[in-house]
This record gives sequence, structure tokens and C-alpha cells, in this order.
Amino acid sequence: MSRGSVTVACTECNFDRAFDRLSEARVALATHEEETGHAADWRIDRLSPGVERAGDEAGICGRPGCTDTDSPIVRDP
Ligand SMILES: [Zn+2]
Repeated sequence: MSRGSVTVACTECNFDRAFDRLSEARVALATHEEETGHAADWRIDRLSPGVERAGDEAGICGRPGCTDTDSPIVRDP
């Protein structure tokens, strides 16, 4: 589950790749910027707290008591 946890995306073209390691991503980013002059950016998906929180609030385990009904992302039936 560690595959592709770091994503490098360019803001000026379609360059978009996922890497296992931050070091690989940074090299790819630097290479792309050097070759194209574009301003690329990277993000670490597995460290995104919002994603994990959204999963918890949606009650993905399936049990009724697990759903946080106060969450703005949970729609009423
Ligand atoms: Zn680019």
C-alpha cells in the first residue's frame, strides 16, 4: 500500500506521476523543471489528514454507529 504515495504534478503541462519515495519524486520534479522550465509541484497523499478523516466520517466500516452524522460530508438519506 506504499505504492504511489507521493505525487508529482506540473501546473503547466500534463506531467503527473506517482512515486513510492519522496526522494524519487523530488528528483523527477527537479528534472522536469530543468528540462521544461515548468513549475511542478508535489504532494504526499498518505499524509493527507483530510482524506483519512473523510473516510472515518463516512463510516466506511459499514456499521451504522460508525457514521458521524454531524459531518458536513454525510448526506441525509
Ligand atoms: Zn510541465
